[in-house]
Amino acid sequence: MIKRIEVQDFINKTKNKQNLILGIFAHPDDEVLNMGGLIIKAVQKNIKVVLICLSRGEKGITSDLYKNNIDVIRKKEFFQAGKIYGLEQKDLKIYNFPDGRFFYSQDKLEKKLLNLLFKYQPSVIVTHDPSGKTYHPDHITTSIVLKKIISRNFLGKTRFYYSVYSSLQRKTYKNLNKNIYQSNFPPDFKTMPKPDYCLKLNNKDIEIQKKACLAYKSQRLFQNLSLDLDLWLNLLFDKEYYHLVKLQEKYLFKFRKYKYKEVNFKNESQKKT
Ligand SMILES: [Zn+2]
Repeated sequence: MIKRIEVQDFINKTKNKQNLILGIFAHPDDEVLNMGGLIIKAVQKNIKVVLICLSRGEKGITSDLYKNNIDVIRKKEFFQAGKIYGLEQKDLKIYNFPDGRFFYSQDKLEKKLLNLLFKYQPSVIVTHDPSGKTYHPDHITTSIVLKKIISRNFLGKTRFYYSVYSSLQRKTYKNLNKNIYQSNFPPDFKTMPKPDYCLKLNNKDIEIQKKACLAYKSQRLFQNLSLDLDLWLNLLFDKEYYHLVKLQEKYLFKFRKYKYKEVNFKNESQKKT
């Protein structure tokens, strides 16, 4: 049963008095695609949001135009999108983990995330789910490392959510996937947990989402599609879905070969986080 929820409910359910929502994602634009609506709603209610972007997304070269400075451009786009949401620059943190290679930097990642969590003491944390939505190994690694840290050090101190899709969104995404990530591995979402909560966006929110998407010019979000951006947003983003992580439980995850040639995961068997 999916429960319709308002942004205040995310905060009210926690004992933590900080009233801070911390979004932690692997690449610039993941925050828009995973919790844009939640950011918009939080800003409207004066709830503080801090966004952590762990890499500059230097592998996301979509054109020769950006060959030499994609990291600089995507960093700028991250700040632009944050500004569109009404966030202050000091609440937008971007780090330099190597795009596509988080899997090999897990110890460093753990240390960094642990420091950030101690610093911010967030009442709510939102991140990638263990399927990574797109099978991106950085998404999956971020999800695994965070669950490990929170289970160990922040039990009962924070509410931890995965951004997930509803069954309709999963179907829609599968149908559109070939056009989006040129993926040879259409996601089957077998390792994506079911949503517990739904956040509904209104037309005004979707307009802001559209602007934030367009801030990522270098990523040409949705531009490869024959569908227009409005339709896309309405199909996939008029509602956002969240899974409340049960920290005592095991969640399946699975690394698969991704489009980056140098990332070669030999062990593709399913494991649990
Ligand atoms: Zn990403």
